[in-house]
Amino acid sequence: MSLLRVVGSSVGRLVPAAGLSAGCRQAHTLPDLPYDYGALEPVISAEIMQLHHSKHHQTYVNNLNVAEEKLAEAVAKKDVSGVIALQPALRFNGGGHLNHSIFWQNMCPGGSGEPEGALLAAVERDFGSVAAMKQRLSAATVAVQGSGWGWLGFNRESGRLQLATCANQDPLEATTGLVPLFGIDVWEHAYYLQYKNVRPDYVNAIYKVANWADVAARLAAAQK
Ligand code: FE
Repeated sequence: MSLLRVVGSSVGRLVPAAGLSAGCRQAHTLPDLPYDYGALEPVISAEIMQLHHSKHHQTYVNNLNVAEEKLAEAVAKKDVSGVIALQPALRFNGGGHLNHSIFWQNMCPGGSGEPEGALLAAVERDFGSVAAMKQRLSAATVAVQGSGWGWLGFNRESGRLQLATCANQDPLEATTGLVPLFGIDVWEHAYYLQYKNVRPDYVNAIYKVANWADVAARLAAAQK
């Protein structure tokens, strides 16, 4: 049961369900983008954004809901084997939902300038400079083998910023304990239509639309 509570709470925390009566299991829904599909051009094309959000993210949401339905059935039947067998689907689709929900917020049209205030101070303390942080995050993210994500995260135990990469849709916090602050999706669906095989160009360009104000808010929340 404790396993179920952890999965349920970590996945369900991010996106509140809409419109279901009290007592019903709440389905996850695709969050609206905070900007138009074409708003991140020329860094990310409208075609990529539309497919990425309305098709890929929607599929993670749909499959997460299916997996949670099956989980509820398995729990009701006290089918421990069935519960365990659902964990890969929960990790993949729950992770996909969590990761993309953060990713959309991590970007904004034209970017938000450069890190400021407490975020800037933390970056300079832990990486030396913003440029050095970007260089290290880019290098780690470009080097992800196959599909995955690069992250700037916050280590609650050390109180410091930390970089990490995750394979597939493995969610950062459930996988590493780091609180996700800024993520870069390097699945080919995130860039291939525009950047083809040149992943470094996509990764290096994404800072032009980085929403450091959102990153700073996530850091402040993680430090409470
Ligand atoms: Fe993606």
